[in-house]
Amino acid sequence: MEAKEIVIALAGNPNSGKTSIFNNLTGARQHVGNWPGVTVEKKEGSLTFAGQKIKVVDLPGTYNLGAYTEDEIVARDFLLFEKPDVVIDVVDCTNLGRNLYLTTQLIELGAKVVIALNMYDELPPKKMKIDCHLLSHLLGVPVIPTVASQNKGMDDLLKAALATVDSTQQRILIDYGSEINEELHKLTTAVAATSVEADSYALALKTLDGDEKQLLEKLPPELLTLQKEAEDRLTAALADDIETVFADKRYCFINQITEKVISQDKEARDRLCLSDKIDKIVTNRFLAIPIFLLVMLAVFQFTFALGDPLVDFIENSFESLGHLSGAWLENIGAHPLLASFIGDGIIDGLGAILAFLPHIFLIFLAISLLEDTGYMARAAYIMDRFMHLFGLHGKSFLPLLIGFGCNVPGIMATRTLESKRDRLITILINPLMSCSARLPIYVLFAGVFFSARKGLVIFSLYLIGVILAVLMGLLFQKFFRKEESTPLLIELPPYRLPTVKGTIIQLWDRVSSFLQKAGTIIFAAVILIWVLANLPLGVEYAGQASYIGRIGTFIAPILRPAGFDSWQAATALLFGIIAKEIVVSTLGVLHGVGDEGLSKVIAQNWTPLSAYSFMVMNLIYVPCVATIGVIKQETNSWGWTLFAVAYSLILGWTMATLIYQIGSLLGFA
Ligand code: GDP
Ligand code: MG
Repeated sequence: MEAKEIVIALAGNPNSGKTSIFNNLTGARQHVGNWPGVTVEKKEGSLTFAGQKIKVVDLPGTYNLGAYTEDEIVARDFLLFEKPDVVIDVVDCTNLGRNLYLTTQLIELGAKVVIALNMYDELPPKKMKIDCHLLSHLLGVPVIPTVASQNKGMDDLLKAALATVDSTQQRILIDYGSEINEELHKLTTAVAATSVEADSYALALKTLDGDEKQLLEKLPPELLTLQKEAEDRLTAALADDIETVFADKRYCFINQITEKVISQDKEARDRLCLSDKIDKIVTNRFLAIPIFLLVMLAVFQFTFALGDPLVDFIENSFESLGHLSGAWLENIGAHPLLASFIGDGIIDGLGAILAFLPHIFLIFLAISLLEDTGYMARAAYIMDRFMHLFGLHGKSFLPLLIGFGCNVPGIMATRTLESKRDRLITILINPLMSCSARLPIYVLFAGVFFSARKGLVIFSLYLIGVILAVLMGLLFQKFFRKEESTPLLIELPPYRLPTVKGTIIQLWDRVSSFLQKAGTIIFAAVILIWVLANLPLGVEYAGQASYIGRIGTFIAPILRPAGFDSWQAATALLFGIIAKEIVVSTLGVLHGVGDEGLSKVIAQNWTPLSAYSFMVMNLIYVPCVATIGVIKQETNSWGWTLFAVAYSLILGWTMATLIYQIGSLLGFA
């Protein structure tokens, strides 16, 4: 008989070492997806221990199992309805009180819990001791000391987890006071009488202890009425609101435990540790912002100064490879169209995808260092007030900054944002950060018409992008659900050294998900454009008779109010969807001149005003396909992806038209 696979869920507060434990247990045998229907990442991995097949599911890091954030709901519903065999609760033992808040809720949910008392190596320097046996006794669950960053204690943890599967754990019941206890009891009995597939006490508790709209929707109607009645009675009977009473009682229970199990040298407790000393400088009133800006600048430089040559190298290599293989295929007698399809379509397409890897790799290397050391939490804290002015989160700063280099890593960098709403807004406005690929367009047009004030004109475009981003951010905020705002829990984890293993696994994760998800979209788009530019058979590449030329000719009149309505301009914009870099060279090809003759053609066909509105159009209209691809990858939704495309297209056209029309009225030409 084949042994059944055991499911272990990993739960814990953010920064407790959950990811490190997950990596230790599963190594490279892990994959990342999304929880059904939501953007929250789902990580799973597998291993065999003592002949037993085990699946490990990494739950999102949360402080609570309420319904404030998507993360909490995902974790709670998994525990309630999927019922893993064991839950390993990763607890940062240097911060026992706060971490146990989640622990007590896990136990109350009826999960079989094993506590990984992590960061155990940090106790001696703090002259702190924790009585593991007593803690285990008081909570009624096994407690295993671990040092995840050194891979210590993992075997003991697994042994304890396997032993727990078949044992019975006596669930601790926190005394919530007679009123609540009574309602809980009634509701539990009522739930047990229905066919709901969840632990009845746990479900009863969870419908009472918070704002549980989403959970209530899952209840049968008769239960719903009972729950409502119970809630009304409690609201009338209790002095505080129900949620507060629940939280108070839990903290009370936890305090009693921590008082008994923790012992610390009083002198040591008052002494500043290294972490506090670093914080004195880093979060200093005057130094905080300069240090922050320096760090951000360093990350930007690191990503692009180091990455750009690599990108050029990849692009050039693939271009040469494409030409060579195309020529070779023609030489051995292949149809020129097939040769071009392989050389300019497929190989170029691959190059287009791989060219993003250096930037993605470097930005995640930097982020991984910032997060694991603990600086990211400080950066968020320092910038929060400023970014809140624009309705954004402190951690939105870095993704937006990176967007000036390239929107693709910029959007991927939003992964550091915990709130779904903040993250979505930061993703949606990121393309308004004018990436470096748009610069050649500005340089060309501003060079022809504004040579004396070229710098100023280009700067104004960047500024328009930023102002629009702020305005759109505020607008989106108004429309998105406000309720999802998390209760503020400013947490500054101590500075810690990151582990090489954790960093490498994270990098591999990001790069491979980009290749699989965004990569396929980019590839498909490159091929599509190749087809449109080369067909029907026998047309000149991208000429007016080609499909793409016809589409360009068709949409050109729509662009007339914006001041440019040649089919060449429209078609160049279409190519710009592939990559903004190729707008300039496409214009050259379409006008039948090389890059050199282009300035002359532009001087003849455009005016300073239409040139400016064209630049604004290029700044705003439709992100490039790579950006569209990562928007799909990161939001996990075609709906939001289409929205991002549609709003930027409308905004771009509107802005270009406004500028052209108002400019014309004012007598500019
Ligand atoms: P998560 O947010 O819960 O997933 O936490 P991580 O696994 O990302 O760990 C956060 C930081 O703590 C990383 O820099 C880890 O290297 C470090 N870390 C994890 N476990 C331990 C430990 O037991 N001792 C020490 N000193 N550091 C640890
Ligand atoms: Mg983690």
